[in-house]
Amino acid sequence: MSTDRKLNPVNLPAGIEAEYTPGGALILDGKLCAKLLREEVRLEAQHLTDVVGRSPGLAVIQVGEDPASSIYVNNKKRACEAANIRSFSYHLSEDATLKDVLDLIESINNTPEVDGILVQLPLPKHISEQLVINAIDPGKDVDCFHPLNVAALFGRNQKFLPCTPAGVMEILRRYRIDVAGKKALVIGRSNIVGKPMALLLLAANATVTVAHSKTVDLSSACRNADIVVVAAGQPGLVGADDFNERAVVIDVGINRVGRKVVGDVDFKSVADKVAAITPVPGGVGPMTIAMLLRNTLTAFKEHNDL
Ligand code: NDP
Repeated sequence: MSTDRKLNPVNLPAGIEAEYTPGGALILDGKLCAKLLREEVRLEAQHLTDVVGRSPGLAVIQVGEDPASSIYVNNKKRACEAANIRSFSYHLSEDATLKDVLDLIESINNTPEVDGILVQLPLPKHISEQLVINAIDPGKDVDCFHPLNVAALFGRNQKFLPCTPAGVMEILRRYRIDVAGKKALVIGRSNIVGKPMALLLLAANATVTVAHSKTVDLSSACRNADIVVVAAGQPGLVGADDFNERAVVIDVGINRVGRKVVGDVDFKSVADKVAAITPVPGGVGPMTIAMLLRNTLTAFKEHNDL
């Protein structure tokens, strides 16, 4: 590999070392970043629990029996416990009505021990996700999905950051990858990942392009970018020919292919070409839960004027 593409980040924070793929790309180890962040949250939560006299609390609501949702909910519960955050679980049956869910949210909105509320998506088809999200107290909306918190992303005074895009920014920050002035491409324009990702990159002074399924010549947009965040849910959407050698590639995709979980980027070929890349699994995924814990701690501090 040519040495000029090798990224040698300086002043890496304690606990992070530069490691490279055999092809020479800096591995952006989201699992490690998440571990460090969770430990920071754990220590602060412990300290503030002593100050306030109660621990931060996160309520997780699940409706129905979707097996993947059950795994995610359990992971969140475990992550809370390990981070000195009390978890409150609410599980409604598949045939719960919209009113059942809204009543539950209203009661949790008024529970002082709960600082954050998360509704595990997707909900059963007969329940409007938007109406449910709208019912969450914006001060407890740690997923950052409530319209008021989404609107706050357009300014600079947001309380909460959307977990997955904020996780991406945190990986870049910890690996000292400067975003300002860079050409960033976001592939995907969903409300949960693509659009808020573009806003965070813009707020960090990148010049941002957003691509989607109707984009003509995705490959050349990709080759022209310094930072590419791929969040399309299409395994193998982009490969080595789609990137330049200086590219920093962040793969948000989580796709099950047979028994394997893969991203949207053809990791093997791309890692031989670009300057830095997140693996899947072990990249952005672990950061999403870590940011959720951090948002819960932020809400706790707000609720206690800390
Ligand atoms: P959505 O399905 O809501 O959005 C996918 C986006 O990708 C759409 O904007 C779509 O364009 C675009 N897209 C689809 N195909 C193409 C294509 N061929 N070329 C260009 N753009 C395309 O997915 P999400 O945003 O919710 O999630 C994206 C991926 O990220 C999924 O794999 C998901 O599992 C993963 N994910 C990972 C998380 C994590 O923690 N790491 C968290 C959340 C999601 P259009 O709008 O035109 O349809």
